[in-house]
Amino acid sequence: MTYDRLVCANCAAPVSEGRCPVCRANRERLQQEGFFGGLGGVNPMALIALLAVLIAAVALLAHQTA
Ligand SMILES: [Zn+2]
Repeated sequence: MTYDRLVCANCAAPVSEGRCPVCRANRERLQQEGFFGGLGGVNPMALIALLAVLIAAVALLAHQTA
């Protein structure tokens, strides 16, 4: 994440160091945004296709063992 380079407006220290509550709040928010942004960057259709493949694989395994 790029928040390593952000400087806090409250304490003028790097936000990534979390020296003050503002830093910690910003760091937490940016980390969450990065996490959900990463999930949002994944194509939903790709996720559905992956899920379908997994279900098919499980069904195949269950069929073979039965
Ligand atoms: Zn700060």
